[in-house]
Amino acid sequence: MSVQQVLELIKEKGIEFVDFRFIDLTGRAHHITLPATEVDAETFVNGVAFDGSSIKGFRGIEESDMVMMPDTDSVYVDPFTAHPTLIVICNIYTPDGQRYDRDPRSIAHKAEEFLQTSGVGTTAFFAPESEFFIFDDVRYESTMNSSSFFVDSEEAAWNTNRKEEGGNLGFKVGVKGGYVPVAPVDSQQDIRSEMVRLMQEAGLRVERHHHEVSTAGSAEINFRFDTLTASADNLMKYKYIVHNVARQYGKVATFMPKPIFGDNGSGMHVHSSIFNGSEPLFYEKGGYANLSEMALNYIGGILHHAPALIAITNPSTNSFKRLVPGYEAPVNLVYSKGNRSAAVRIPVAAVTPKGCRIEFRTPDSTANPYLAFAAMLMAGLDGIKRKINPSALGYGPFDTNIYDLSDEQKKDIRSVPATLDEALDALEADYEFLTEGGVFTKEFIDNYVGVKRAEAKSVAIRIHPHEYGLYFDC
Ligand code: GLU
Ligand code: MG
Ligand code: MG
Repeated sequence: MSVQQVLELIKEKGIEFVDFRFIDLTGRAHHITLPATEVDAETFVNGVAFDGSSIKGFRGIEESDMVMMPDTDSVYVDPFTAHPTLIVICNIYTPDGQRYDRDPRSIAHKAEEFLQTSGVGTTAFFAPESEFFIFDDVRYESTMNSSSFFVDSEEAAWNTNRKEEGGNLGFKVGVKGGYVPVAPVDSQQDIRSEMVRLMQEAGLRVERHHHEVSTAGSAEINFRFDTLTASADNLMKYKYIVHNVARQYGKVATFMPKPIFGDNGSGMHVHSSIFNGSEPLFYEKGGYANLSEMALNYIGGILHHAPALIAITNPSTNSFKRLVPGYEAPVNLVYSKGNRSAAVRIPVAAVTPKGCRIEFRTPDSTANPYLAFAAMLMAGLDGIKRKINPSALGYGPFDTNIYDLSDEQKKDIRSVPATLDEALDALEADYEFLTEGGVFTKEFIDNYVGVKRAEAKSVAIRIHPHEYGLYFDC
């Protein structure tokens, strides 16, 4: 959309405010709002100033003046404001007119440019499946309920979620019992449908929604793939609408990967593929799961760099409580068609050559999508450049349920890191695939690792309630 078109849209829709947003290191959006009367063509040339020193992971106080430059392709009308407001996502610049190297969108754009100069193809497509929970407004219920601290069993998780609203009406969703039952077991169809309605109005092409596997309130809405940065923008819009519709219903939505002990968590499987113009490059009839050699090498790159990559795609201490066996979250660094216990799955049902893609199942929605998609692309491109054959390295394919293999059978299978600190160690040891072509800088990675180490430490030094169960009576 041109600046002129945005200005016309403001008039046409009676927009009273324009909301300028940028994304921080952790993937959270921030905004500054201008009355529409203060917005003209100049605003799109000069941008909107803000103080970068107050944003987690950005520069220190000595380099605080930053500028938001609106990306006119990203505009949509805010569904939640009382006064008609137009949201526009911005790129961040320094006062001397340079793209800010810690702006996640700058890295996403650089990754897209790097693909184009790599000779591999022109366009990478991404589609995240971002799962979440809708809870009654009791964010900490699952961890504050003492039964889940002291009883190490699925029964505890079951009990944790038995809280009744207005008496016991029955039809409760059990542990891992939530996959697509109809109402009244699924009591959240309307809330998800309202989310979808607003997403569509805001320009997202939504494909479907459903109740997810775990106990009541586990949900997933899928929207259509797009190019790398556009897909990350779409995810920001998606999360904004999910959070705010839940709030309108007096509920709270969370994308935290593992809010309930003993039941499935919320993943953000990411589908991706590369095209050259309109030609899909991942499809070759007759190969394993109809994959081309390029697609296999892309998988090889993802699996080879996975421990480091996971520091970006699973960047919270809670992420690693999801990545445990038994809950459809991948633990093993292998690939497979159809098999949901593998880190990389190749969907084979109803797949056309253009739809041929790989699904990386490890990520979760605590990831900053701009960084996560960029890092995945860089890992995949490195695999293509180095012709990494995932089978030669022992990454599969595995078409059995890996959770069920014996220890002996599993002994050569690499696992995901066990903690955020382990993933950060891996990233510190293996980052050069990210700095290829200057897409990520070493300075960016060092800063990122520092921010995440501080988060991990802040959790580690706190006394966990479960420790009382283990040690209080010693
Ligand atoms: N919730 C599962 C996860 O944590 C995935 C369920 C599914 O296959 O969609 O990845
Ligand atoms: Mg799902
Ligand atoms: Mg999936």
